[in-house]
Amino acid sequence: MTENLPDKIQDTRLQKIAEKVLNNIPVDREDAVYMLTTENILDLGTIAHFIRNRLHNDITYYGVNMNLNYTNICELRCPLCAFSCDKDDENAYLLTTDEIEKRLQDASAFDIDEVHIVGGLHPDLTLDYFETMLRCIKAVKPDIHIVAFTAVEYDYFAKKNRMPVEDVFAQLIDAGVDALPGGGAEIFSSDVRDIIAPKKISGKRWLEIMRVAHGMGLKTNATMLYNHIEKPDHIADHLLQIRNLQDETSGFKTFVPLQFHEENTKIRAREMTTGYDDVRIYASARIFLHNVPHIKALWMYVGEKMAQVLLMFGVDDIGATYHNEKVVHAAGARTPDYGSESFLKRLITAAQLKPERTTAGYQ
Ligand code: SF4
Repeated sequence: MTENLPDKIQDTRLQKIAEKVLNNIPVDREDAVYMLTTENILDLGTIAHFIRNRLHNDITYYGVNMNLNYTNICELRCPLCAFSCDKDDENAYLLTTDEIEKRLQDASAFDIDEVHIVGGLHPDLTLDYFETMLRCIKAVKPDIHIVAFTAVEYDYFAKKNRMPVEDVFAQLIDAGVDALPGGGAEIFSSDVRDIIAPKKISGKRWLEIMRVAHGMGLKTNATMLYNHIEKPDHIADHLLQIRNLQDETSGFKTFVPLQFHEENTKIRAREMTTGYDDVRIYASARIFLHNVPHIKALWMYVGEKMAQVLLMFGVDDIGATYHNEKVVHAAGARTPDYGSESFLKRLITAAQLKPERTTAGYQ
C-alpha cells in the first residue's frame, strides 16, 4: 500500500500530491486549491485515507460529553451568528452557578467524560463568574475534562478585566480548564472576516491567543467555518496559517471544519453543501495539515450519515454525544442535539472501524 499509493491515483496532479505525501513533503497552497476544487473525490479520498491510516490505523475516536453554553448574550452580534442575543431580548439567558451545577449533575447520569463550554461575550461578567463556574464543575465531577472558551472569549476576558491574556489563562487553568475548543477562527482572511464577523478579533489575534495557550501547555482544537462567502483560496490560506503555527507550537490536537448553517443568521450561504463539497473540505484538510494529528467531523453539523462517510476521507474523530448543544441548532441544524454512545459506536463499526472513546486530550 505504502509504495504504490501514487499508482492507485488516476489524476496526474493528485498523483504528484500523493508522491509528496509518500515522501513526507508538505503539499503547497496551490495543491490545496486544486484539491478543494477537484471532481476526483475518490482519488482525493485514497490519499486522505492513506494518511488517516498511517496515523491511526482503524481507530476512530468519539467522545461522551455535554455542551454548556452559559449565556447567549453577546456584545458582538456577528452576522454569521444565530445564537446570540441582546440583553433585553426575550430569549436572552445567563446561567447561574446553581443552574450550571444542576446541568452537570443531570449530564453526569450519562457518564460524561468532558464538558465543552462556550458562550457569548457578556459585558457584565467578571473573571470570578468563570472561576466559580469551573470550580463548581470540578466539584460535581472531579475527573471531568473541561474544554473551555474560545480564543475570542479569552481575548474579551483579558480586555474586560484589564489583564494580560497570560494571566487570564493562568487563573482559569488553576480553576480547571484542561483544553480549548478552537472556535472563533471562522476564516482568517480579513476580506471574508470583515463581512461575516466584523467585530470579532482578527485572524492574527486568534492565532496569537492560541500561541499563548499552547505556550502555557494547553492543547487546543482549530476550527474553520466553510460554505458561506469564502473561496477556495481563503480556505487554503486558513489551512496554511494553522499549519505554520503548528510547526511552531505543536499545540493543535484537532482540526474541525464547521459547515455553516444560515438559518437565523444575516449571511446567506451559497446553497446547502453537496456531499462532494464536504468530502473535498475534509480530505483536503487531512492531506494539507500533515502536522495536525486529528481531523474531526462533527456529526451534528454535517449529519450523521455524511460524518460516517467522511471516516473514509481522512476523518478519524466523529465528535461526541453533545448533550444539550445550542449553537448550531439555533442556526437550523436538523440533527438531534444528543446522540447516544451506542449510536456513535454503530456509525463507526458499520464503517469497519474500531471505536475508541476519548476526550480532547486523546489520552
Ligand atoms: S459568533 Fe460568538 S462572538 Fe459572534 S455574536 Fe455569536 S456568540 Fe458572539
